Amino acid sequence: MRDTVTQGGLTAWLRAFAAAVARDREELTDLDAAIGDADHGSNMDRGMQAVVGKLGGLSPDEAGVGVGALLKTVGMTLVSTVGGAAGPLYGSLFLDMGKAAGEDAELTVAQWATAVEAGVRGVQARGKAELGDKTMIDALAPAAEALSAAAACGLSLADALRRTAEAAAQGMKATTPLVARKGRASYLGERSAGHQDPGATSSWLLMQAAAEALASDAPPDRPRT
Ligand code: ADP
Ligand code: MG
Repeated sequence: MRDTVTQGGLTAWLRAFAAAVARDREELTDLDAAIGDADHGSNMDRGMQAVVGKLGGLSPDEAGVGVGALLKTVGMTLVSTVGGAAGPLYGSLFLDMGKAAGEDAELTVAQWATAVEAGVRGVQARGKAELGDKTMIDALAPAAEALSAAAACGLSLADALRRTAEAAAQGMKATTPLVARKGRASYLGERSAGHQDPGATSSWLLMQAAAEALASDAPPDRPRT
């Protein structure tokens, strides 16, 4: 296990997230069928398969680029392959994380927390959702906050990522009783209550995948076995 975020860790994280989305594709789609248009699973799966394809196709030179450049590539790939609301929103998350991460080869827990905070602010700037609007922000914002708090306490990367995923899980579960105020689900008004938000669910998967894989020291161009 590493205590810094490296390109190898990022690659392992993105592969783990893609695998989780592929595994839970139907569940994400069912959640979106209840309060949206039943495409969140297929949207995210298409995007993450494209991201995994990009990772595999990186030349050794490109594979050696900094953390920020890799994150920006992920963001651009998601924007261009995922339709609907989620594409530009997840795109903003990764693009703004990439901008904040800069071109260092590895990031400390504190630097990683700063990057994640910037990414979540990017999602909010694009989608204008606040906490409690029943969107991915309800998982992402508490996750970013928990990560920053963990970094401030000097926790190891692995412990910080675990706390981050727990906060995302709580935020995701808390979306169930909420009435949606943003996105397609808001068209349902009160009828959106009683269903877990699909985007908050995929955001939890993202943070859960980080807890599983981001602290790994797999080489950048190979999946973790
Ligand atoms: P679409 O709604 O266009 O079909 P998806 O189904 O892929 O796109 O994604 C739906 C998810 O996007 C929602 O569950 C919600 O979490 C998220 N979302 C929608 N609008 C916003 C917004 N303005 N800000 C943040 N997240 C949003
Ligand atoms: Mg949808």
